[in-house]
Amino acid sequence: MKILKPAFLAAGLLLTGHLYAQAPVVIQGALDIETDHMVSKLTHVKSKTYGGWQFWEGKYKGQPIVISRTRMGMTDAAAATTLAIEHYHPAAIINQGTAGGHDPALNVFDIVLGKQSENIGAFITPKKALGEGSNALTWNKPFNVLPNDNSDAEASRHLTFAGDDKLIQTANSIKSTYTKGRVVEGVIGSADVWNNELDRIKLFHDTYKTSVEEMETASAAQVASLYKVPFLGIRVLSNNATNNGAYNPNTGEACQDYALDVATTYLANAKK
Ligand code: SAH
Repeated sequence: MKILKPAFLAAGLLLTGHLYAQAPVVIQGALDIETDHMVSKLTHVKSKTYGGWQFWEGKYKGQPIVISRTRMGMTDAAAATTLAIEHYHPAAIINQGTAGGHDPALNVFDIVLGKQSENIGAFITPKKALGEGSNALTWNKPFNVLPNDNSDAEASRHLTFAGDDKLIQTANSIKSTYTKGRVVEGVIGSADVWNNELDRIKLFHDTYKTSVEEMETASAAQVASLYKVPFLGIRVLSNNATNNGAYNPNTGEACQDYALDVATTYLANAKK
């Protein structure tokens, strides 16, 4: 077992009231259908609310787990991630939940492990005069909202956030336990948009290699990256407009079971 810093232990004791001998994994979900099932599986549950964001601290398979209901969208995801890190000093963060397919080869109930996540809502549009209209298919310049050099947004165009290798390894090591679909690695695209235009979805898939879209992962990943907390997005397809995959809310529960198992396996391995 790792030796924990005294300040860290104190935080675990005082803030959570739990005798966490090990930092917890925080598992995030935006909606009730993406969090309720995990909360129902925890033991020793204690709920805390900070501002508009609710957290449930508890244990699953003997491991310390915090469930965070982030609410929907990029702003809520960033705020909830900051609160989670400041209050729980987690060993890792998993952002999980439902998503829409960008890859016609993926079906509802398949799960994408976010090898990368990317903000697909940030662009500098071409210049057009009044009356010239607007065509999102010509937006080919991603806006870097987190440049290396804060004085110059043009300095770098790296908008993607890498999923943590150890979390991806862990998720892959138990993927045969997920029987409702496949588990694949891919790119998760995030924005405060629900895209239904198939040409636009194809453009994202062709240009940025997105496997799925949703509204939180890249935002949470951005915050986690600045705190250097290991992070992984795990997203189940609840719908796929590219192959007529109809929305199925039951996918939310399937993803929660898998995410919980990834978290506990990760913590159990860290103890060895
Ligand atoms: N309350 C709605 C569902 C909300 S969908 C209903 O019952 O119809 C928006 C949430 O689901 C977001 O948190 C987002 O992360 C996720 N999501 C699932 N599929 C999505 C898609 N195709 N595009 C964008 N977000 C999607």
